[in-house]
Formats: sequence, C-alpha cells, structure tokens
Amino acid sequence: MNLKPDFTPGRACAEALDAADPLAAMRNEFFIPRTAEGEEKVYLVGNSLGLPPFTVKKFVNTELDRWAELGVEGHFTGELSWAPYHELLTDQLGRIVGAGPDEVVAMNSLTVNLHLLMISFYEPTPTRHKILIEQHAFPSDHFAAESQIRQRGYDPATSLVALEPGLGEDTFDAEDIMRQIRMLGDELALVMLPGVQYYTGQVFPMAEIAAAAHDVGARVGFDLAHAVGNIPLQLHDWGVDFAVWCSYKYLNGGPGGVGGAYVHRDHVANPELPKLLGWWGSNKDTRFEMSTTFDPIPTVESWQVSNAPILAMASLRASLDVFDRAGGIEPLRAKSELQVQYLDYLLDLTLAGWVDSITPRAMPERGCQWALQITAPHREGRDVYEALGAAGVACDWRYPDVIRVAPVPLYNSYVDIFRFVQILESLLS
Ligand SMILES: *Cc1c(COP(=O)(O)O)cnc(C)c1O
Repeated sequence: MNLKPDFTPGRACAEALDAADPLAAMRNEFFIPRTAEGEEKVYLVGNSLGLPPFTVKKFVNTELDRWAELGVEGHFTGELSWAPYHELLTDQLGRIVGAGPDEVVAMNSLTVNLHLLMISFYEPTPTRHKILIEQHAFPSDHFAAESQIRQRGYDPATSLVALEPGLGEDTFDAEDIMRQIRMLGDELALVMLPGVQYYTGQVFPMAEIAAAAHDVGARVGFDLAHAVGNIPLQLHDWGVDFAVWCSYKYLNGGPGGVGGAYVHRDHVANPELPKLLGWWGSNKDTRFEMSTTFDPIPTVESWQVSNAPILAMASLRASLDVFDRAGGIEPLRAKSELQVQYLDYLLDLTLAGWVDSITPRAMPERGCQWALQITAPHREGRDVYEALGAAGVACDWRYPDVIRVAPVPLYNSYVDIFRFVQILESLLS
C-alpha cells in the first residue's frame, strides 16, 4: 500500500484507477444528485450529508407498511419489532467504532448524546473542574461544555479550557496536546475533543490522548461526527471513556438521522455514575409493568431515555448494510489512501500556488476531507466556492476561509476527483 503509484495527468489515469478499484461498484448503490442539465454532480460533501443508498427506500417503506398493517402491534411483532429495533444496529455500529455490543447504542442525536454523557462523565469538584475542549471546537460542542459547566455551578471563564495549536498553526502537534493535558494535571476533570476536526480535517491521536488524560486522573470523551465511517476506530482498545456521533455525515443515515453513543465496558454497569433517566433505559422485560423503580439495563442502553425513532433507524440500517458489503472500514480506508494521494498529486501538479490545503498530508493524521484555501491572486475563496457549485461541484464553505471537499471512498470515483481538479483549475486560470 505504500508503493507510490504512477499517476499521470490526464483523465485516462482516473479511468484506469476506477477500472482497477475493487470497490468501484459500490457507487452504483447510491443516488447521486444531478445538475439542472441532468449530469451527475461531483458530490464531494459527504462530510456534511452522505448520499442515500438505493435500499433506503425499501428499509423505510418496510416500516411504513408494518405501521399501516400492524398499527401498535408493530412494537412487538416479528423480527423487526420496534421495541428492540435499535438492537438491529448495534453489531454493525460496534464494528465501525471498534467496540462491543454492550458498549454501543443508536439513540437521539449528537448534541443530545453529548449532554447525556457529560452528565455522567463530567463530575466536577472544587479542585478538579476543568474541561479541555479544542480552541475552534464546533459551536454545538462548545455550547454543550459551557452549559454543563454552568449547570454544575462552575464558571466557564475558569473551568472551560481551550486546547490551542502552536502559534500560527492551524493543526495540532500530538506532543503539544499531551503537554497541555499534563499541565492541567489534577485540575482536569474531562478531555472532550473531536476524533477528526470538522474544519481542518485533522485526525486527533485518540489513543494517546486517552492515555494522557487517564494519567492525570481525567476522563476522556470524543465527538466522532467527522470520524465515524471515515477512519478506523478502536474505542474500546484505546480505553476511551465515552464517545458520541451523528449518522448523517459519513454514515449516510439521512438528514437529522439517529445519533450514536459509546460507553466503555468499565462504566456501562456502574451504578455510581450520575445519569438522566428515562423508561427506555430500564429493564426491557419489566418496562411495561410501569414500575417507577428504575432497573438499569446493564449495557450502554441504560442511557436511552426515550423510545426510538424507527424511520431514522431503518434508513441507517440500509447504509450500514452497504458498509458491510464493502467489507467494512478497512478496505474503504485503503481506497481513501489512494484517493488522497491522487488528489494531492493533481493539486501539486496543476494548482500549486493557487490552492493551499491546511489538512495534514500524512494519512494517519487525516481522513478523506481537505480544507482548501484559495491563494490565487485576486481570488476570493467564497466566490470560488460559489463558482464550483454553479459548475456542478457540491462542496461546502466554512467561515472564515475554507472550502471543504471530501471524496468518500464508498461512492466517489477517481473520475470525480479528476473532474473536481479540472473544474477548479478552469475557474482559477
Ligand atoms: C456535525 C456536527 C455536530 C452536529 O450536531 P447535531 O447534534 O447532530 O446537530 C456537532 N458537532 C460536530 C463536531 C459536528 O461536526
């Protein structure tokens, strides 16, 4: 895999790479949005909303039919019973995040899950009350941490600490992260960082961060919004205490899709952890006896508060089946590595000096997303982004000055990458 392939500049190279790609056929399982002229868009924005597999209609329609035919009995009838429906997702999600079935649950949405797990894993004391987040954290994560601190009677001005990159740097040096964790020492209650940073696309060294946090007696949780379905994860082996994610980005679960949560086995049955309770977290066998004595399910399912959004889960199941047919995250990552090299090759060849990437170049430090800055003279990044959209490239703009593009190995082809660079070059020259 480390052999540097012999790329060539023309479209023939992209076509040859597609022809040799063992995963090329996966693209044919997805709806690809089209331009007004009916041409397939170059869809490079799976980092924001992944595309629907064809089978999603079948999965969702099955539940609509069951609802129409069975009404309330759908909760307890057949293999697709809605009461335990979330269990159908558990093994597949566990494989994607590297965790056991007792450690993973599909529920709620990302920020809701972040709050639910911070209730459990942020236990401030007068001497140990700080949360380490990243300086340019996604606003929702920042708001969650800030409000959790206030809610416990502490002050974000002193308890919310920002991890900062080196002076003038966009991305983080691993040693520097560990140094900042060590410096906070026994004042640090919780490290809450992204698995993959949403803006720069940098992968955080999660295993090392977990070890460093535990060394100083802190807990560690990760927001995997941009990591899940993008990079290989081993949450359990890395000793991560908790993690949360959404499913509408690389997992293709659909707009507003059901989120996910992971809690390490060491904690799942710990009765000492504070927790917000709801009936769906209590013993499945006695739940409908309507007792008001909470009897926690001895898995991460005890964090469930409400019954599940079945249609969103049906939609996610369709996509997780596609991941399985692709052979899981490892072959996808191998393809991603070659796609990353190919796009870097084309950028270096045709756009050097006009376009800069702030995303780390080395594979262990990045997923499939680029954060591109337009450096061509007399060009505004925002205008270039809009021109890309008009030319049939779906990507996104993130304030202040980045165009994010993400070739997703599940459905993006090498020709997509070639067309993107060709269109960008034509706009800048
Ligand atoms: C996408 C994303 C979110 C979105 O949160 P929701 O609760 O799903 O609306 C939050 N945090 C990060 C880092 C994200 O990338």
